[in-house]
Amino acid sequence: MHAERIRKVRDAMSEHGIDVLLLSVGADLPWLIGYEAMPLERLTMLVVPVDGDATLVVPRLEAPRVRERPELFSVHAWDETDDPIDLVVRLAGPVRVAAIGNRTWSQFLVELLARMPGTWFRAASEILGPLRARKDPDEVEALTTAAAAVDRVVAALHSGEIPLAGRSEVQVAADLGQRMLAEGHHRVNFVIVASGPNAASPHHEPSDRVIQQGDVVLFDFGGSVLTESGVGYCSDITRCVFMGEPPSEFRELYEVVHAAQQAAISAAKNGTPCEAVDAAARDLITAAGYGPYFIHRTGHGIGVEEHEDPYIVAGNQSRLEVGHAFSIEPGIYIPGRWGARLEDIVVVTDSGPRSLNAAEHRLVIVDA
Ligand code: ZN
Ligand code: ZN
Repeated sequence: MHAERIRKVRDAMSEHGIDVLLLSVGADLPWLIGYEAMPLERLTMLVVPVDGDATLVVPRLEAPRVRERPELFSVHAWDETDDPIDLVVRLAGPVRVAAIGNRTWSQFLVELLARMPGTWFRAASEILGPLRARKDPDEVEALTTAAAAVDRVVAALHSGEIPLAGRSEVQVAADLGQRMLAEGHHRVNFVIVASGPNAASPHHEPSDRVIQQGDVVLFDFGGSVLTESGVGYCSDITRCVFMGEPPSEFRELYEVVHAAQQAAISAAKNGTPCEAVDAAARDLITAAGYGPYFIHRTGHGIGVEEHEDPYIVAGNQSRLEVGHAFSIEPGIYIPGRWGARLEDIVVVTDSGPRSLNAAEHRLVIVDA
């Protein structure tokens, strides 16, 4: 699998005229070789010449964590008194164009720029974005496993197994995190619990606000599920509940979100421009009079990273392909009052869009 990915990356490098690929912290490295760099001030960097052997430059104290894959790359551990930038420059050789991982600390890029004055640096996402976006069957399976795990957490919310009334957002968020781990995630990436007026803030940080009768409660959470290759794949889901009987005004708002989400999922077919999927949700919300209250894009790609290509946003004319996996998450946010969002992860298949999440989409009423 990793050998195949390295081959594809090299093909893309020659196509784009890139002489060397430099990957450090972030999701590119684990996707390519199954090793994740520690986010340290000490440099870890994989050097992949377009033709020539790949070398992983790694701090001596991190080297024991590296699973050696001599058929893919050799390991060069550096000591505390070594200059790792110098090492990378030498391994790269004379280079006209280098692609560097988008999440690399600027500290290292600044040093590389100074020591490779004749080299033009480009973002590695140029070649890795499209490759990582097309999931292979194993990756789709990993995303499906992750989606099923958060679906079970949602079921526990809907059934009342995770109590809400009289508890703070922070308390409920802690429960959700524990549940996610119990359901098979190895890492919790984020938990949003937004009650009442807080639901109008799409990325609300859970607070001490106590959940009460008459609140909408918006939950958005995700984590990573580890695969055999040593790499985690992400889940990401949003659902809303209402504490007691919702006013008809909220029901109407929620139905618009629900219809917009279904419309966007149905539109997510092979060959459809990403922006057309965004428009499918947005047009419906705008027609219902809520256009100014849908304040973010419709979705983002997902894989090793929570947010990656393809982005489902106006202006993105690139077309969906089989294997693309992304969220569809329209929302409506009325400041000071309430908000609603619904989010599923969708994969494009030969036979159309397939939602990986099966948790109830209708507004569930929880006894306050
Ligand atoms: Zn989300
Ligand atoms: Zn999302």
